Amino acid sequence: MIVAGEGNYLIDAEGKRYLDGVSSIWCNTFGHRKKEIDEAIKDQLDRIAHSTFLGNSGDRAVELAHRLVEIAPDGLTRVFYSDNGSTSVEIAVKMALQYWQQQDDESQRGRKRFVAFGNAYHGDTVGSVSVGGIDLFHQRFGPLLFDVIRSPSPYCYRCPLGKTPDTCEIDCLTEFENLMNECGNEVAAVVLEPGFQGAGGIVTLPSGFLRGVREICDRTGALLILDEVAAGMGRSGRMFACETEEVVPDFLCIAKGLTGGYLPLAATLAKEEIFEAFLGPPEEGKTFFHGHTYTGNALGAAAAIATLDLFEREKVIDQLPGKIKFLRKESERLKDLPSVGDIRQFGLAVGIELVKDKKTKEPYPASERRGMKVCQHAISNGVFLRPLGDVIILMPPLSITEEEIRTLVSVVESGVRAESPDTC
Ligand SMILES: *Cc1c(COP(=O)(O)O)cnc(C)c1O
Repeated sequence: MIVAGEGNYLIDAEGKRYLDGVSSIWCNTFGHRKKEIDEAIKDQLDRIAHSTFLGNSGDRAVELAHRLVEIAPDGLTRVFYSDNGSTSVEIAVKMALQYWQQQDDESQRGRKRFVAFGNAYHGDTVGSVSVGGIDLFHQRFGPLLFDVIRSPSPYCYRCPLGKTPDTCEIDCLTEFENLMNECGNEVAAVVLEPGFQGAGGIVTLPSGFLRGVREICDRTGALLILDEVAAGMGRSGRMFACETEEVVPDFLCIAKGLTGGYLPLAATLAKEEIFEAFLGPPEEGKTFFHGHTYTGNALGAAAAIATLDLFEREKVIDQLPGKIKFLRKESERLKDLPSVGDIRQFGLAVGIELVKDKKTKEPYPASERRGMKVCQHAISNGVFLRPLGDVIILMPPLSITEEEIRTLVSVVESGVRAESPDTC
């Protein structure tokens, strides 16, 4: 039961402190009770907490939109707000669909399908679940979902195409290309998490994959939606993960870290030509009918502006390469443990996949809940972690120090040793 926080630590009802090893589910950026964000929210409270963005506007959200356009990859000039990552993707999907319907060129109006990847996670609303590809989370809702063209996950450790590192020529990208060659002219948009598939277990994309997807989208005319809800806002080591391959999407979805992990706010950035397709007199009916009660919330926007200020003032991005390297060095120590099958890292995100048999990659029976047990061990030792099945996730605040990284990894190490002794 968490009752308070301070810096990179959570404090429970008994006063015990825990290192926040998953950034309060991947969103906390600078630690808790960061003075500048606290003050920005308090200042905003003295003006107004919220007023509607439907039929009206607000200074904070407008200021934030300008700031986001400034830092976003060139060409993303428009911002549409919502309040969580799922809706930021849902909005991009709906906008892409409507965009094609409003094309002057009639031959393009048939683009209605979406391509998404196996093992993808884009949120928990019905549209974002439709493009998601994790059976455990999504299968149950099958009857509610729209049909998606599914391209194989670039999950190298468990390659869906049966390739190994020596035989792989990024065949999953070739598979994607084949799908697009076949039905690319029906495709409204491709949806992808750049950098790594987060909830899929920090499945890192092979180098060149993202750029390849962009090129194939360009060639086949499909729009590209990048879901940077987890990878954006510094997590990748750059402000946005798509910068690592110099890719500019048609839609960029951000949420989690946008407010420093303080308040629910999300943004779907789009290119100018997307925006323009929605312009026209009311009788043409080009309106995008999507608006939330709390769209453009002023407190959230104030927290987000303070977050962007902190990125600048504290030169956060400049400090990340050192931390990322240190985290890599520390976590690599774990790779010789008998139950550690794979360690994957992208920026300040690590997934440690536990397996029963390292040679055959046989997983533990789910009923043994190994991942959960390792995290419980960590919690008893002052580090809060939450696994994804048997993948231990390390996703610390960007403000984590080297000493705290050392603690984080060594608690996981002792947890893995304690919870899988039979394989030692
Ligand atoms: C968390 C997450 C979402 C969903 O965000 P919510 O704010 O939880 O709705 C979508 N996409 C990715 C990649 C995420 O990590």
